[in-house]
Amino acid sequence: MSIAVESPGLSETQRQIVELARDFARTRIEPFAAEWDRTRHFPRDVIAELGKLGFLGMCTPEEWDGMGVDGVTYLLALEEIAAADAAIAVSMSIQNAIPTRMLVKHGTPAQKERWLRPLARGELLVGFALSEPEAGSDPASMQAQAVRDGSGWVLNGLKAWATNGGTADLMMIMVRTDTPGDRRGAKGISTFIVPTDTPGYRAGKPEDKMGLRASNTATVALEELRLGPEQLLGDEGMGFVYAMEGLDAGRLGIAIQAVAIARRALELSLAYCAERRQFDRPLQDFQAVQFKLADMATRIEAARALAHLAATRRDRGERVAVSASMAKLFASETAMWVTTQAVQLFGGYGYMRDFPVEKLFRDAKVTEIYEGTSEVQRIVIARSLSGR
Ligand SMILES: Cc1cc2nc3c(=O)[nH]c(=O)nc-3n(C[C@H](O)[C@H](O)[C@H](O)COP(=O)(O)OP(=O)(O)OC[C@H]3O[C@@H](n4cnc5c(N)ncnc54)[C@H](O)[C@@H]3O)c2cc1C
Repeated sequence: MSIAVESPGLSETQRQIVELARDFARTRIEPFAAEWDRTRHFPRDVIAELGKLGFLGMCTPEEWDGMGVDGVTYLLALEEIAAADAAIAVSMSIQNAIPTRMLVKHGTPAQKERWLRPLARGELLVGFALSEPEAGSDPASMQAQAVRDGSGWVLNGLKAWATNGGTADLMMIMVRTDTPGDRRGAKGISTFIVPTDTPGYRAGKPEDKMGLRASNTATVALEELRLGPEQLLGDEGMGFVYAMEGLDAGRLGIAIQAVAIARRALELSLAYCAERRQFDRPLQDFQAVQFKLADMATRIEAARALAHLAATRRDRGERVAVSASMAKLFASETAMWVTTQAVQLFGGYGYMRDFPVEKLFRDAKVTEIYEGTSEVQRIVIARSLSGR
């Protein structure tokens, strides 16, 4: 049995897309991932190549130069890229999910015309800034503020940990548009489309992270940043709702990123256990090792199935906030558990930077944190059980 997705169950289109993604991942990403991780190098050229192949606009409708494929097909491609390097996959996931979906659903014809095509083709790189230093799990408590200025707006505040904050061409930024005297909670937040060369947009130095080190993560300061009325996305006060809608798709991307990290850890573990000998036999001959590998494979299969199920439901037009939370929760905890087992199977070598399971272990951790921590996913699931 293959740990990667096998061809027989795939449509012809899916098979071709998986092959293209797998080939690109193995030739243009995997050989360089350890070096990018070590030097914290963000390979913008490789991201641009992903765009040329169509992988940055996979769910964008064809009329906007996207591939227009279904959610499962997108996840299949993302898994191949993430198995080679989760740090590259996070840019692919963001570009395909929250900001693009917000534009497709809520953008004006002029906003779509201006932004969707270059985003789908990967000519522009996008990010989204919801979190703030004091507002992570509870983003509705954000403080960054937009104030009306004639027909436009002036933004001030600080956004935290924005993926691509220092490398994106365009950011979707959520800030308050209610007033200090009339706070409206989540209904007082709006989304703005902000080119990063706008005066007043200032990205901090790239964060020095545990994992995903090739991905740019930065604090973004908004300093008297002036925007025109055409830069408001959708309706004033609806930005938080749009962000939460987009998070469903985003969380499925993170779920598959986690599946891919775990899958790679298992692939490497299988090869190592066949080769490494102790007590005069390969590790794979010990039943305790076989059981560990069996549990790793089972959890990966279950995590992938949950993500694909949620994507299928989403494509059918169902609400998937809870399914997406379940998939992300289970897959991210699977990634952490599987990579922990992989390091254990590699023994002392597993603890060394020269061996790739060490990177997978570090990369896995963030999947339990971003786009909602595991605790936040459990809150979403528990609320649905109690009907709240
Ligand atoms: C590499 C990286 C990339 C990121 N990229 C982006 C991005 O592109 N855009 C963006 O907007 N944000 C981004 N983030 C931010 C990320 O989404 C937040 O870090 C995350 O939502 C958690 O918020 P916090 O760090 O403030 O933790 P906190 O909210 O302070 O939580 C701390 C701990 O308390 C727990 N906790 C909080 N509330 C509760 C509760 N009610 N019940 C139980 N436990 C609770 C949490 O689960 C967590 O364990 C990124 C973060 C990282 C690390």
